[in-house]
Amino acid sequence: MTALCLNVEDLHVVYDVGSTALGRRRRLHAVNGVSLAIPPGETLGLVGESGSGKSTTGLAILRLIEPASGSVRLGNTDVAGASRQEIRKLRRRMQIVFQDPFSSLNPSMTIQTLLEEPLLIHTDMPASERRAMVGKTLEAVGLHPGYAVRYPHEFSGGQRQRVAIARAMIVRPEFVVLDEPVSALDVSTQSQILNLLKTIQTESGTAFLLVAHDLAVVRLMSPNVAVMYLGEIVETGPSARVYDQPAHPYSAALISAVPFPDPQRQRGDRIILRGDLPNPMAPPSGCRFRTRCPFAMDVCTAEVPLPVPIEGGGTASCHLHTHGPRLGGQSLRPLIHTRRMQMV
Ligand code: SF4
Repeated sequence: MTALCLNVEDLHVVYDVGSTALGRRRRLHAVNGVSLAIPPGETLGLVGESGSGKSTTGLAILRLIEPASGSVRLGNTDVAGASRQEIRKLRRRMQIVFQDPFSSLNPSMTIQTLLEEPLLIHTDMPASERRAMVGKTLEAVGLHPGYAVRYPHEFSGGQRQRVAIARAMIVRPEFVVLDEPVSALDVSTQSQILNLLKTIQTESGTAFLLVAHDLAVVRLMSPNVAVMYLGEIVETGPSARVYDQPAHPYSAALISAVPFPDPQRQRGDRIILRGDLPNPMAPPSGCRFRTRCPFAMDVCTAEVPLPVPIEGGGTASCHLHTHGPRLGGQSLRPLIHTRRMQMV
């Protein structure tokens, strides 16, 4: 079995959001028992609607926000249990690239200073080596080393995201969270940045957690995918299997909204996902998706669905595999075709 770069088990993030008129504490369970694993040099896509908890999961893995409980291991290192001082040292091994390259770079710093800063914090490289490393890293992300004297405002959005990637990669991390890394960019710049990330990963062997709402981006980048709904992972598996043969109604609804080259297939499989995410302060009992699921059964209100192994790889947490139609780990597609799904 391949050693894992990142292994997350039963991660919980809970926000305290004040108290009720009766003095009871109000708590928001933003991440509820998330488990995921990424081998070295691989990308796992984490998808879901806005507010599903996917970015919070990425931030909690890096301890940029504090998890309430759960295990996070980077190689053999216990990240979740590390002290503040140990976390500072661990930052060299785990980095993040944020969505917005306009606000993630300090506008008063030159690119040289921005890229040198992580080296100053995490290494004892002499100044000459740091300068050489900045030049080399700029070249690796497709920017001329002479740009080091410039400021972020002198660059386009795509160039700024290249700088942000350079800043994350300059300390040669083992693991990087890519939090919607291309969603602020135009389509042609998006593909350049995605190709750049693939090249960097091939050369560096870094593992990526790609947090994205754009399923086309995730399919392009990630051999494996995890689908999140209201703080929980509802389906995991090889991207090819999940995209072609989804086994959870929520995954099927998300995927059906992605344009396919075959318009017949698009029409036949289209699932309209109506309604918003329920209030995360008071999630539905049983299956959290039941208020929007056209297949909901009595058991869905009473019992939380557990992950069931799916043919072709991965798991789905849905009672359809064990109750009612008893799909038994098979794709949901035949069921979609036999019943026109309208999410309510
Ligand atoms: Fe729908 Fe029930 Fe499956 Fe939840 S467990 S997705 S409500 S069928």
